[in-house]
Amino acid sequence: MLNAFLAAVNEGLQTALAKGDSDASIDALLESIARGAGALCAAIVERADDGAPVVTHSWRGSCGCLPPAGARLVPDADLRAADLAKLDAGETVCGSFSIPVTAPRSVCCGADDVAVPLRRAGKTIGFIVLDGVSASTARNLTGGLDVAASAVSLLVQRRDELRSSGAESRVDNVTGLQTMDVLSRAVDAVIGMTAHGTAEPFDLVYFDIVAFKFYNITYGFDAGDRLLRQMSQAIGSAVGIDRVARYGADNFYALVEGSRSEEAVKTVHAQLAEDATYGALVRAGIYRITGDEASAGQVVDRAKMAGDAAAGDFVRYWRRFEKGMEESLALRSYVVRRVDEAVAQGWIEAYFQPIVGTFSGKVESVEALARWKDPERGMLRPDQFIDTLERGKLVYKVDLEILRQACARIAARRAQGVAFEPVSVNFSRYDLQVDGIHETIDGILASYGVPHEYIHIEITETALVANEALIREHVTRFHERGYEVWLDDFGSGYSSLNTLQNFDFDCAKIDMAFLRGGSSKLPQMLCDVVTVSKHMGLKTLVEGVETEEQLDLLKRIGCMFVQGYYFSKPLPAQEAARTFVTRGLRLASAQERALFNDVGMTDVVQGIHPFFESEPALEAILPLAIFVRENGILRTVYANRALRDYGKASGYGSVGESDATLNYGDGVAQTIRDALRQSTVLGSVVEARTPHSPLFGAVRSQLISVRGDARAYLVAFDPIERHSAS
Ligand code: C2E
Ligand code: CA
Ligand code: CA
Repeated sequence: MLNAFLAAVNEGLQTALAKGDSDASIDALLESIARGAGALCAAIVERADDGAPVVTHSWRGSCGCLPPAGARLVPDADLRAADLAKLDAGETVCGSFSIPVTAPRSVCCGADDVAVPLRRAGKTIGFIVLDGVSASTARNLTGGLDVAASAVSLLVQRRDELRSSGAESRVDNVTGLQTMDVLSRAVDAVIGMTAHGTAEPFDLVYFDIVAFKFYNITYGFDAGDRLLRQMSQAIGSAVGIDRVARYGADNFYALVEGSRSEEAVKTVHAQLAEDATYGALVRAGIYRITGDEASAGQVVDRAKMAGDAAAGDFVRYWRRFEKGMEESLALRSYVVRRVDEAVAQGWIEAYFQPIVGTFSGKVESVEALARWKDPERGMLRPDQFIDTLERGKLVYKVDLEILRQACARIAARRAQGVAFEPVSVNFSRYDLQVDGIHETIDGILASYGVPHEYIHIEITETALVANEALIREHVTRFHERGYEVWLDDFGSGYSSLNTLQNFDFDCAKIDMAFLRGGSSKLPQMLCDVVTVSKHMGLKTLVEGVETEEQLDLLKRIGCMFVQGYYFSKPLPAQEAARTFVTRGLRLASAQERALFNDVGMTDVVQGIHPFFESEPALEAILPLAIFVRENGILRTVYANRALRDYGKASGYGSVGESDATLNYGDGVAQTIRDALRQSTVLGSVVEARTPHSPLFGAVRSQLISVRGDARAYLVAFDPIERHSAS
């Protein structure tokens, strides 16, 4: 019997050692020991640091149960310190237990229970508990149980060494990374150290691959696996391979010194994005371990929460955890439950932000933006409820309410006989799936008597990815009903300039990211986007203008509209109206809007009839202006860089300063006025020589808009240096 048992233990040890994972190998050995001893079930009980017994492994055996009291068997109360000391000294303990000693150096605890001590360096570190093994059997197996105990001790020791070196078994057979369990223990250790104020700050960084499913679907699972391996290498080389674990499909976690985590995220992102085969996009979340966390699990959740917050944001592909992210979970369910009440009770309020024409210098329309003024939670910003409602396909409730308020505002101003401007209203792509949405929208306008051209429908670019054909159809239907449709957040997602060609939008609202980011290429990219959009017949608007420099750049490249805090943040209707007055923001009349629409479509970068072509940086050398004549008075509404340089050289500080000369001066001004007077046919070009001018050899004028009695002209100047230089 003893020999058979020893053979079973031996075989169990071989099986165990063949396993990569130390926990799995201990499980395997335990099973062999239990079977060999004829136990019903078995467990390994280890003593935690504080001496408390913890069941770390179990074998449910044929009865499917656990030893009746794996933990109870060696309770603190039962097995006193003195007993443990005896065991440590190699003695057998019996007495506080009901059954006499059955095997040397073992504890017998019940009629059919045997607890075999596990020892390391002379200390009892735990027990193998065998249930259903009688005292007499145990006695027969005495030497064998010793062997079994030392085999288990060996594996436990190996496991502990692997854990403490951080090089736990490479169980992830796709990437060869350590398991999340192992990383979690390291996180636990960092929490402990940080709590004592001893560790340098550590971050847990969460990584995943945007649209990983898509790679699997498109390239197959093998390719997906290769991408995962590449990802693990990229992270491993950025932070050290033993700091990384994979958890679930494409979720990776890395424990990184706080000072290096952002850099690691950027490195991994760049490496994957530049990869020729996949060009995968990485998203990341960073959580700084404070030492106050309840467990590693909380750290892991928070890192992921931060990463999830970066979802759908292609500019900021990573985020740090913020407290609000946790709260947002609770907020989500609140918002979904209360949306009807919010609309009914008037908690939803439209705020208005001016959209200013760069050529007209006036407010040409406003955008209505939703705010949720909650009686319990205070004011909620759109990012706290729009996204949630979109997911639940409930956002149409808010959107229609905002539309209603926009119409109410127009109707009220009309009734007062004061000027009013078109209002842009945001519609989610989910709104378009609502039955009869077009009729509902028309109905709201009708009930307030608002003409359709006074409502602009904004649809965000991300909608295009979802279903091109469907969006195209809706754009057509809006157009048939007389609404303008504006493409919101252009440039924030996947769309390219070519995408614009597939749709019939009226205006491209270019994402504010183009003004940020700090890349030296952005101004040129912005210029290209504006110019190409114009060529495709779209109006252009750049959002998020905050500074004078940004505004100057946009004026220079001829972007038609601007919107941003530079003029005003979104404000409640009344306050918006007052602010426009105090800031000197005047409303454009319908005629002005039409005139400046024509002006704004002009390609001021290339001009339409330059004096010379194929020159690099044309706008730097070819002076170009747009003049508007209203009520018989000429006004400069645009001057490019070259012309402004001339203006400065002649002592004019700003663009408008030369307008008096333009209207009443002689010399070049006279020539310009003559040329403009002769420009009576839309589109045709009139050239006039300016023989006496020290600056210009000739001017060319083109009539670009006729609206009522107002006119707009594009004027190009032929600089004299060009002749002297050549
Ligand atoms: P959006 O349509 O792109 O609106 C522009 C956002 O940029 C607004 O944020 C506005 O306050 C902000 N913004 C304007 N100028 C500046 C600036 O100079 N600098 C900066 N940093 N930000 C500026 P808001 O009101 O928080 O709205 C956020 C987003 O929520 C909107 O982005 C829109 O996508 C969505 N949203 C807002 N109201 C509604 C709505 O009624 N319906 C739907 N479906 N979505 C809405
Ligand atoms: Ca918008
Ligand atoms: Ca936008």
